[in-house]
Amino acid sequence: KKPLLQVNNLKQHFPIKGGIFGRTVNHVKAVDDISFTIFEGETLSIVGESGCKKSTTGRAILRLDEKTSGSVLFEGKDLLAMSKSQMRDMRKDLQVIFQDPFASLNPRQSVSQILGEALAIQNVIPANKRRERIIELLSYVGLRPDQIDRFPHEFSGGQRQRIGIARALAMQPKLIICDEAVSALDVSIQAQVLNLLKSLQRQFKLTYLFISHDLGVVRHISDRVMVMYLGKVVEIADKKSLFDSPKHPYTQALLSAIPVPDVTKKQERIILRGDVPSPINPPTGCRFHTRCPYAVERCKTEVPGLTSLHSTHQVACHLVEQ
Ligand code: SF4
Ligand code: MG
Repeated sequence: KKPLLQVNNLKQHFPIKGGIFGRTVNHVKAVDDISFTIFEGETLSIVGESGCKKSTTGRAILRLDEKTSGSVLFEGKDLLAMSKSQMRDMRKDLQVIFQDPFASLNPRQSVSQILGEALAIQNVIPANKRRERIIELLSYVGLRPDQIDRFPHEFSGGQRQRIGIARALAMQPKLIICDEAVSALDVSIQAQVLNLLKSLQRQFKLTYLFISHDLGVVRHISDRVMVMYLGKVVEIADKKSLFDSPKHPYTQALLSAIPVPDVTKKQERIILRGDVPSPINPPTGCRFHTRCPYAVERCKTEVPGLTSLHSTHQVACHLVEQ
């Protein structure tokens, strides 16, 4: 498998100014030194509770926020080292689909205008051929040609997300970052949109970075899963290993909260105390130690590194190292 995106030591530390001289007194370590690879044609999901900095990681890759360091190699080229204009050219290859398509679609533009604008930016299809191409894009996402002149409010939530997907496809991207892309939809509609994403992936050889707090959704769509906790990667594995034998206590807790499809499998619910702590003063040692049911003394001082259990399963926990 060929790597499409290689993230190395990605950090995003925002300074906090304070005192009468406005000096930097502290840093919010939003994303703290994470590394991972996304291979061509796969779906890698990022999961975790809200506050685990899943979206921030997605945004950092696209350089949507300042104060990002490390490297993000896309087909070997470092996105973080590119000039603004180089980055603008790269953006076509890297598209994003957000949770709320309504917020990202201009309500005063018809579908043909929305997709026409994307095609104008992409600038591959001549202007007189664009309407034809828009109809083709609509057919890919299961919308009808006669819907081309309608406005976003005339569509259902699921259909609007289909328009968002068509807009991303218009760019002929290689990587699509789906940030809670189906979270706002009803469960039955979610499955339809996930199946659509899967079939488009096969058809157009797309690679997905799929960000979601919903493990049911992640189980449906992923090839591999990366679990984040407070700006750190705590476990990364192929889907089967992660769901069948999660090793990190945080992953185990997340999984214990979703209903088991196999009723013969007994499962005890692990209840986590409290919320994800603030990234301004994250817990020392293992960041999860304040909520971990298995924490020992060592966890309060020593940061666990990612250890490989086998080639497709890594976990950052002192218990697993032993
Ligand atoms: Fe829990 Fe310690 Fe493992 Fe962290 S390192 S997950 S606190 S057992
Ligand atoms: Mg988010």
